[in-house]
Amino acid sequence: MLIRMFILRVPLLPFLFCVHSVAGYAAENNAGSGIKLDVENSLSPFAILNDVPIRAVTLGEGIWSTRFRTNAKTSIPAFYESLEKAGVLDKLRGRSNKARGNSDADLAKWIEAASYVLQSQENETIGNLLHEVVNDISASAGNGGYLHTRYMIKMPPALDKLRPGGYLYCLGHLLQAAIAYHQATGDNRLLDVFVPYIDNVVEQFGSGKKPCWSGHPEIEIALVELYKTTGNKKYLDFARYLLEEVDLTDNAKTSDINFDHYFSGAPFSSRKTISGHAVCALYRCCGATGLYLETGEDKIYRNLLTLWHDLTEGKMYVTGGVGSRPADEAIGDSYELPNERGYAETCAAIANIMWNRQMLNATGKACFTDVIERTLYSGFLSGVSIDGRTYFYWNPLASRSNASKLRKFSEDDNLIAAKKSTGIGLDVRLPYYQTPCCIPNAQRMIASLPGYIYGTNSQGVWIHLYHSSRLDWHFQDGTKLSLSQSTKYPWQNTVNIVFDEVPSGKFSLFVRIPHWTTKATVAVNEQSPCIVNNPGSYHQIRRRWQANDRVEITFDMPIRAVHANPQVRQNRGRVALQRGPIVYCLESVDHQDTSVFDIVLPFDLSDIDDALEARFEPDLLGGVVTLRGAALAYDSSSEKKLYSFAPFSGNLKPIKITAIPYFAWANRGPSEMTVWIPQAPKNR
Ligand SMILES: [Zn+2]
Repeated sequence: MLIRMFILRVPLLPFLFCVHSVAGYAAENNAGSGIKLDVENSLSPFAILNDVPIRAVTLGEGIWSTRFRTNAKTSIPAFYESLEKAGVLDKLRGRSNKARGNSDADLAKWIEAASYVLQSQENETIGNLLHEVVNDISASAGNGGYLHTRYMIKMPPALDKLRPGGYLYCLGHLLQAAIAYHQATGDNRLLDVFVPYIDNVVEQFGSGKKPCWSGHPEIEIALVELYKTTGNKKYLDFARYLLEEVDLTDNAKTSDINFDHYFSGAPFSSRKTISGHAVCALYRCCGATGLYLETGEDKIYRNLLTLWHDLTEGKMYVTGGVGSRPADEAIGDSYELPNERGYAETCAAIANIMWNRQMLNATGKACFTDVIERTLYSGFLSGVSIDGRTYFYWNPLASRSNASKLRKFSEDDNLIAAKKSTGIGLDVRLPYYQTPCCIPNAQRMIASLPGYIYGTNSQGVWIHLYHSSRLDWHFQDGTKLSLSQSTKYPWQNTVNIVFDEVPSGKFSLFVRIPHWTTKATVAVNEQSPCIVNNPGSYHQIRRRWQANDRVEITFDMPIRAVHANPQVRQNRGRVALQRGPIVYCLESVDHQDTSVFDIVLPFDLSDIDDALEARFEPDLLGGVVTLRGAALAYDSSSEKKLYSFAPFSGNLKPIKITAIPYFAWANRGPSEMTVWIPQAPKNR
């Protein structure tokens, strides 16, 4: 079957090569009637922690289950329609189309998202759509319409000539889609289509063969996943070639290419600062961490830590967003974090989450989980509207996007180009963009979230994220483990864990104490609680657990004022509000009588937790905790001069303010918004 399909797909390819490639792929995977693959895809030799598969976790009620349902019911089917409208599916069917060049990647991420949903639950609508797409791909693989059959024999010229291009970027996403689809259904058809393509690439390029680089990094992540799934080391070797071995920086043919921008084309371990295109840089870090987890190369590990510190100590927004230069979608210098002109692409937030998850697995350190949580609840979640129908491409921390500026824009306008040229005032979510990369990326992120909550290793079970859920899984020795977590986190501060099925011996429960809390207590079976004073760590409880054992965790969750390093010049004298993991903002829809940019907070913020009231409002923005209270606002309407040798009076008037979670802004129409709020002068 495999051979027949392959011959149909590449009729000009020498037969022996077909047999070698497919037989090799099959034999290495113990194929009898089919290919046997590692569907868990979770164990890496240098991982401190292992992922738990999506299907092992059932979400209970909470913010993420609401998003998961909306994603499955609304977002994923709607994006299928968008792909149809944009010609992406006609491209797949070999018909004339108007799809953009890299649209394969959009389709691939949609397949991945749909497959993750099916790993969690049965879903007839998504199952049927996915079935249609896979049928189309399989059919197209035979007629050459979609798969650029000639590229399976002869590589894309751009790849051969070392030009930047999206070929490997798309192929990487397609391979990840094929793996996710296989994990969801056991169906190998997508792997049967795309593995021969990567086999052909590996056959022609790499160490001792023709040189090659990844262009927009992504394929590195897929190659490590494919190695873990098939056990075939040639994919890991090729990932290592792309990440560490190829160096085109002194190649005469590529002297015009800015490899720094792509974060590619040179050894990963030679890059000592994180810079260039935000998504390229972070995807590259994901690939390199994946390689480290398989090989344990110390040079790569040390470089990962160097880059992580460079990012999180100078180049990451308080929302977890990354990318401060709209013009080239790039990471800026340290402390270059403009609010209104910030870029912070949704894809970069997703890449930041994915990378930190791998770093967590590599180290077992909670500092990485803190970044995951920060980004999930702010820089990522802002990218998707609450109704799951519209998306931000960029996620700035201040906006003047009022209705009069926005009404002329529609999804047919190139908002991205407009953002790059003007930088401000164009912040609107839309159902589709000309470059819709963030849309299916957000969908696959939400669909994969159940797999982020827990981890395991030989010591025990780890709780990374707090959300009502049930875990039904096993340790590496096969002993079963099931537990339930109930909580109203992130709005409330208590989490209850109940073990349902446990192994007979001792093991540890690791609970994360987030960095934002001032104190946490942990109580087992309602005994005297243990006070934990080291936020930003995992608290280990080792004992012989019994079924029905209970653990209650309580976090102090005050409203806190976040100060930025003074070198972030835009935020001097300003603070952001945070409660629990949620970063807040002020939005104009809640402040009709004053601009949000005129609002100031008291100089003394030591009692900010008393000055503002945290209140859960079930009917607002899908149910959020708001922060309401007294503040001040400049009354500058009487000032007419632009400059003056005498100070402006700057009259301050008392007002009531309402802060909402940053992720929820722009869900009530276009609005002005700011995260960083000035403090009043010291004598006020
Ligand atoms: Zn994107």
